[in-house]
Amino acid sequence: MIARIQRLLPAFIFLALAVGCSRDEPPVSTAAPVVAETAIPAQAPVTVPDVEWRRHGMNEAETRFSTLADINDANVSKLGLAWYFDYPTARGMEATPLVVDGVIYTSGSWSMVYANDAVTGELLWFYDPQVPRNWAVHGCCDVVNRGVAFDKGRLYFGTYDGRLISLNAADGSVRWSVQTTDTERPYTITGAPRIAKDKVIIGNGGGEFGVRGYVTAYDLDSGEQEWRFYTVPGNPADGFENDAMKRAADTWGGGEWWVIGGGGTVWDSMAYDPELNLLYVGVGNGAPWNRQIRSPAGGDNLYLSSIVALNPDDGSYVWHYQTTPGETWDYTATQHMILADIPIGDKVRKVIMQAPKNGFFYVLDRATGELLSAEAYAAMTWATGVDMKTGRPLEVEGARYENGPTNLQLPGPIGGHNWHPMSFSPDTGLVYIPAQDAPWVYATDEGFKYQPGYWNTGTDNRVAALPDDPALRAQVLAEVKGAIIAWDPVAGKPRWRVEHVGPWNGGMLSTAGNLLLQGNGSGQLVAYKADTGDVLWDFDAQTGIVAPPVTFRIDGTQYIAVVAGWGGVLALSGGDALKTGPVANRSRLLVFKLGGEASLPPAVDKPLIIDPPPLTATAEQVAEGFQQFMIYCMPCHGDGAVSGGVTPDLRALTPEKHAMWDAIVLGGMHWQNGMVGFSGVLAKEQADNIHHYVIERAHFAVDQGEGAVVEEEAMVVDEEEGEVVEAD
Ligand code: CA
Repeated sequence: MIARIQRLLPAFIFLALAVGCSRDEPPVSTAAPVVAETAIPAQAPVTVPDVEWRRHGMNEAETRFSTLADINDANVSKLGLAWYFDYPTARGMEATPLVVDGVIYTSGSWSMVYANDAVTGELLWFYDPQVPRNWAVHGCCDVVNRGVAFDKGRLYFGTYDGRLISLNAADGSVRWSVQTTDTERPYTITGAPRIAKDKVIIGNGGGEFGVRGYVTAYDLDSGEQEWRFYTVPGNPADGFENDAMKRAADTWGGGEWWVIGGGGTVWDSMAYDPELNLLYVGVGNGAPWNRQIRSPAGGDNLYLSSIVALNPDDGSYVWHYQTTPGETWDYTATQHMILADIPIGDKVRKVIMQAPKNGFFYVLDRATGELLSAEAYAAMTWATGVDMKTGRPLEVEGARYENGPTNLQLPGPIGGHNWHPMSFSPDTGLVYIPAQDAPWVYATDEGFKYQPGYWNTGTDNRVAALPDDPALRAQVLAEVKGAIIAWDPVAGKPRWRVEHVGPWNGGMLSTAGNLLLQGNGSGQLVAYKADTGDVLWDFDAQTGIVAPPVTFRIDGTQYIAVVAGWGGVLALSGGDALKTGPVANRSRLLVFKLGGEASLPPAVDKPLIIDPPPLTATAEQVAEGFQQFMIYCMPCHGDGAVSGGVTPDLRALTPEKHAMWDAIVLGGMHWQNGMVGFSGVLAKEQADNIHHYVIERAHFAVDQGEGAVVEEEAMVVDEEEGEVVEAD
């Protein structure tokens, strides 16, 4: 609105001057002429209403389906770039834009918030909450933010360091800010808040590092805390917050899970049904992952990996459904949940649908939590199905790695589907799942020792690393895939499937124009026919896309917008398993319309040279370094030191950076980029061994001929924000 007023200003001034010049003239009547009864009235101009995107999932049901059809399967080939906006950062971008009153609100790396004119792209304001850059190392999944919430001219968003902030949407000024987490613990916030009546609800993350999950509701006006619901029990000796916690504690045992925290973070998905007055929260994995360490006596460990329905008025428990009892694989149920009314049997049921990491697509009655169907949407080796009487998965012998490592297991910790939003089209009756196959070998870390603030999964990630043997490596990589699955939730099976180069692709948007839109890890935004999956249009975004597109209409023109920019957990940690090779991160807001004629500047990529120093270490030192690397470095620098493009590829360090190893790794010289010093947890000898391992990996890459010169990771470099992303 501000920008529109600004755009109108010159015309207004001109008009005022023109009127001023003629003020001595006799006034000209502006009264409407009297229309004779026989005259034909002039046709009123057809006004097409504006259509906004006001809620994270488009609506409270989170369908991400738009009734707009001005852009459709017949004309989408004419879709072109209307404008773009370059963000000043080069880390992961996962936000769903909101569009309200002509302004597009997005959030990006380090929890920064931006307001642009939705028609012209003009930046109206931006807000940087000044997240401490060294916080990056205490979160698993990149310094991303999945979006803001809007209500009555006010914005709400979470920050990576655990604050919930409310801004005035008009100018980005701060209304209030609250710390929703214990800053002594490695909590992070990457998910978008949701609005339920007069409250804003926010969860948090940190399950891999050791926290206790919860959701909190705050008053929209004052920011005062209204209620908090913990998802896992605390120390029974301290008493329980409510009956739900007391019941949950009976399903944990044999160890002190509260020391590491238990997990169960609500780091992404929520949905709200105003009619049933229920708030649904998706609960995450256990902390640590490994139940043998977390709860040695076994048990289901409620409410890990569950959909929990709460009364939004007071945060009280209403019902739950646990997708993965006794979670031990990072099989979260934090994935996107969609509310819909669909025919099941001979009647229309109010359902909630989810495709959590564990590979089953669930349809539940959303009033009661009754299980209506559970069918495998992704390849799976850990279970053979779900018992419809008990609602429990039928686990395969050995899947729990209690007596040794698993075989290559599907799904792995990134899931058959991760946070990337799905879309449900009532026109096609299909749920579009951004799915993936990424196998993993689960094994207990026999020497596990809790390291507060760092990676604490209780699993031996060395066993899961890609094997060096070329044949074995190829065999594993052949199983790694990405796909769009068009899932029929009534029939409980896929109707069609589109294959991608690798896993880790963008979220979904479907429209009444028979369109399905998705960005992907190969850097394309693609429009498909929603009913068949045929490709209709694509656009080279010059960067990987993981965020979901949205659509809106202003002054009769429909637009499609997506936040482009590579990042997120697999982009950081995936290594060669990404299959796309390193992908540049150019963080950009891209907005399209029919006949749009804007173009992107040419992408300039430098080749990445791997020229390692000589390897002087023993095999034993390299092995020691490998162990430490997988605990402290892998979460950001990738399996095998192979960067996915967001952080530096450590195999390609320059001689100068090798010389500064101790200053960077122990001393924290690059803390402003998120690379803190590890002198508190790593001895000099351990840092040396990690260095040996990185050098060994560089020689391995050169020997394989795959890495002597690989495609550039190069990204946008912004001096002001300290986002210098050459090798550190
Ligand atoms: Ca997790």
